[in-house]
Amino acid sequence: MSQMSNKNKKVVQNLAKSISKEVKHFNKIEVEGLIGEYEVLMQDMSNYGREVPGLERGKFRSKLHSMFGITHDIIMDGVFKTFDKDNDGHVTMREWIEGLSVFLRGNMDEQIKFCFHVFDLNGDGYISREEMLQLMKNSLILATEEESEEGIKDLVEITLNRMDHDHDGKLSFEDFEKAIKEENLLLTAFGPCLPDYKSIEKFEQRVFYVQLFQ
Ligand code: CA
Ligand code: CA
Repeated sequence: MSQMSNKNKKVVQNLAKSISKEVKHFNKIEVEGLIGEYEVLMQDMSNYGREVPGLERGKFRSKLHSMFGITHDIIMDGVFKTFDKDNDGHVTMREWIEGLSVFLRGNMDEQIKFCFHVFDLNGDGYISREEMLQLMKNSLILATEEESEEGIKDLVEITLNRMDHDHDGKLSFEDFEKAIKEENLLLTAFGPCLPDYKSIEKFEQRVFYVQLFQ
């Protein structure tokens, strides 16, 4: 990558300073790294000669896959939707940094909100049986077609029983939060929507610590 001009560098530093005051978990230097990474991702998007307001779904999904090992279609779309806060089909620089603050470093409360939003596929405020079924079908690989359909239905019922605190047959945010506070492993009950420790470490090494020596 070519050396950033001094002027551009100053602009990025000022931007990073203001963003780091508003977004949790990242300091100024780390935000600079995330801006740099975003610009690299955007570069190969604007190859087509048009201005784009942010990362498009396809690009974002392929990065989730290659950088963080998130592979399931519905989960990738859910993560995209969760990053794309204003729902305009693009993840802007700001949305990228805000999303990553939870994705990489969120505390338990932030991650519960994040995963709930990913799993609530139609955004109606509940995770329904149908949504659970769709998610689990997507993330589990069972022996045969028949076995998988039945097995997953059973698993949905077991998981729903365990997490549906008010017994109305669907998971509200309150049900979800309560269940996870009792058993943290349930956070990814419907699929791996957060990166594993190894991918986080690798990403941070590359994006944050290299930055320190530039
Ligand atoms: Ca829903
Ligand atoms: Ca419920």
